[in-house]
Amino acid sequence: MRTGLYVVSGPGGVGKGTVVATMARRHPEIVVSVSSTTRPPRPGEVDGVHYHFLEDEAFDALIASNSFLEWAAFGGHRYGTPWASVCTALAEGHPVVLEIDVQGAAQVRERFPGAVLIFLEAPSPEALAERLSTRGTDDPERIAERLRLAEAEMAQGRDFDHLVVNDNLNRAVGALTRILGG
Ligand code: 5GP
Repeated sequence: MRTGLYVVSGPGGVGKGTVVATMARRHPEIVVSVSSTTRPPRPGEVDGVHYHFLEDEAFDALIASNSFLEWAAFGGHRYGTPWASVCTALAEGHPVVLEIDVQGAAQVRERFPGAVLIFLEAPSPEALAERLSTRGTDDPERIAERLRLAEAEMAQGRDFDHLVVNDNLNRAVGALTRILGG
């Protein structure tokens, strides 16, 4: 595997967390950055493992001291990548993976030009449309709305170096692993 900074981003609900966690389990040399967040922990989440859970004031202080490589607001909470741990892991020669939202990925592109940006995409709009209509729970208007959203999400993917379709967990993990040189 190649050392370097790899950003895995994509639309909400596409399964970024599962794909990254599965790859990291199979390749222990990969360091997955632990983000800081102001969101409260969900049941089962451990401070320092899933996130560094912070109060608003502590997050403000980290912004002020320029401690984040990037940060963004998402769903009413803030999330940020700590610079220091990323630098340490890179200096040790690890591939470092950030699993962050699209706004964060754009900031990494600016501040760390050598980063490799990977967009994890849901299967095609056609596949999504078929899934939505055969499911029978969404009316045609709602399906059209979901498809418009999917198109916007696909458009965001154009600024990335790689596009990986998450139609199958093993296939997506394999594609991502190859991008990291594995
Ligand atoms: P969740 O609250 O479900 O754990 O995460 C919500 C969203 O925030 C996900 O899209 C996740 O990828 C993103 N996220 C997690 N950590 C960071 C981070 O450090 N920076 C940014 N920009 N987004 C993050």
